[in-house]
Amino acid sequence: MVFQDPYGSLNPRMSAGRIISEPLSIHRINTARSEREDRVEELLTTVGLSPSMASRYPHEFSGGQRQRIGIARALSVRPKLIICDEPVSALDVSIQAQILNLLKELQNEFGLTYLFIAHDLSVIEYISDRVGVMYLGKIVEIADSNTLYSNPQHPYTQALLSAVPIPDPEKKSHRIILTGNVPNPIDTPSGCTFHPRCPKAKTKDGFLQQCINQHPELLETAENHQTSCHLVNA
Ligand code: SF4
Repeated sequence: MVFQDPYGSLNPRMSAGRIISEPLSIHRINTARSEREDRVEELLTTVGLSPSMASRYPHEFSGGQRQRIGIARALSVRPKLIICDEPVSALDVSIQAQILNLLKELQNEFGLTYLFIAHDLSVIEYISDRVGVMYLGKIVEIADSNTLYSNPQHPYTQALLSAVPIPDPEKKSHRIILTGNVPNPIDTPSGCTFHPRCPKAKTKDGFLQQCINQHPELLETAENHQTSCHLVNA
C-alpha cells in the first residue's frame, strides 16, 4: 500500500534503507543482509533516488522524495496489486505530476495493477483505466475511464464532473450545484441514499417515491458500464 501522508507514513526513527527493507524481513524475503542491501539499492534507483540515500532519515527528504520511499517500500515484495490511497493529494502540484508519471512507468515496467483512491477527478482520469464512483461508501457508477468521463450516467457522477474546471476562458461550464449536505454515513437516507440531494429525483411535492423507498441496484446499462439509478435503469 502507498499511503496519503508521506510524512506520517514513514517511521522517523528508521533510515530509508530500513523502511524499504522492513517488508522483506517481515515476509522473509532476501534474508541474507547483503541481499537485502542490494535490493534496497535497486529499489531506490527504481524510484529515482540515489542508493547513497539509504542511510538518511525521513526528515532529511522532501515530501516528493518521501513518497518515492513509500513507493519503493510497496514495491519491495514484488506485488501484483498496490493500493494507492490518495498518494499525491498531500504533494505540491508539480511534484504530483512527477509521482503520477513514476507510478505509470512502474506500472508498465512491472505489470502492476493499482487500486487508486482519489478525490481529484483530473488525477483519476490521467491514471485510471476503469473508474468506480462512490457515494456514502457504495459504488454508484463504474465504467472504463473514457466512457465515464464522456458519458456519465449517474446524477452524482454528472454533478462531480460538471465541477471540474475547464482551462478555456471561451468555454462556458454547466456546473450542477448540489443542494443539501452529505448525510451521516451511519444513518443514511432510505431508498437511494443520494435522493435528498439528487436534482433528478425532485418533484413538485418532494421526491420520486421509488427513489425514497427502493434502493437502486448497480446494473449494467451499457457494455462494461454499470449504474445504480432507477431513472437510468428504467
Ligand atoms: Fe437520483 Fe433516484 Fe437515481 Fe438515486 S435513483 S440517483 S435519487 S434519480
